[in-house]
Amino acid sequence: MWRAQVATVLVAASALAQAADYSGPLFDAHLHYNVEAWDGRAGPHGPDDVLARMKRNGVRAIVANSRPNDGTRALASMAETKQAGVTVVPFIRLYRNRADYDNWFRDETIYEMVQAEFARGVSGAQAGPYKGIGEFHLYDSANANGPVAKKLMQFAEKNNLAILAHVDDVAIDLLMAHAPKARLIWAHTGISGAPAARVDALFARYPTLMGELSYRPGLTCDAGKLCPEWRALLLRYPTRFMIGSDTWVNQRWQYYDDLMKGYRVWLGDLPPDVARGIGWGNGAAVFGVKEP
Ligand SMILES: [Zn+2]
Repeated sequence: MWRAQVATVLVAASALAQAADYSGPLFDAHLHYNVEAWDGRAGPHGPDDVLARMKRNGVRAIVANSRPNDGTRALASMAETKQAGVTVVPFIRLYRNRADYDNWFRDETIYEMVQAEFARGVSGAQAGPYKGIGEFHLYDSANANGPVAKKLMQFAEKNNLAILAHVDDVAIDLLMAHAPKARLIWAHTGISGAPAARVDALFARYPTLMGELSYRPGLTCDAGKLCPEWRALLLRYPTRFMIGSDTWVNQRWQYYDDLMKGYRVWLGDLPPDVARGIGWGNGAAVFGVKEP
């Protein structure tokens, strides 16, 4: 009799353990600090505001990029960031303004700006030099063959810079053809919903390809838990995925708490080591961020 009771308690305890949210540190691998969030003077989401949001959500490192790059530079260099316990991994944004979104892949002045920004670097002891370029967008995958897109892929590969790319699955093949050893982070891992089997095939083909999971359609199902095919995919490539906030508009800052809580729910559905890898360790390993 008592054995049955113990077994029942154990089963209940393991069900509870499975249901617990992930509680470790988070690496936000897709963060923007754009001019409309903070213009350097006032703005709805000044550094104190965004750092407080990171801190209360256990976000201990961020890939930061911004339009223009001043927001990234500010976050990376200010003492408050270090005091909040947040490590900044700075990326060079390709856009000076909204018009650049649709033309960067053939605009030589963008290539010149990236080179100048890379040479200039980021001031601030904790940030060091730039670690990547992006996020960039390709709304038509054929533009992955634009002359500046090709040159930037090769520039990134040569200088060991990661690339954060918001593109479709066709563009992944085109971009990787330019620079087969480049560390490409696929923003949203296909926001238009490339099937899990297609993502699997691309991950198998390109060992340096990683996936960031904001806005990924079909990722979560009932009660915010992972859908079965995505759970299987994350378990198949436990070192290749990362989470991100994608604060591309101010509304995403307003929901930052909910976004991070949402990640903690489905990360809690994975084995603890896999959850910690996707939540923190994979990004930390790629960018050499120390344990918090
Ligand atoms: Zn973004």
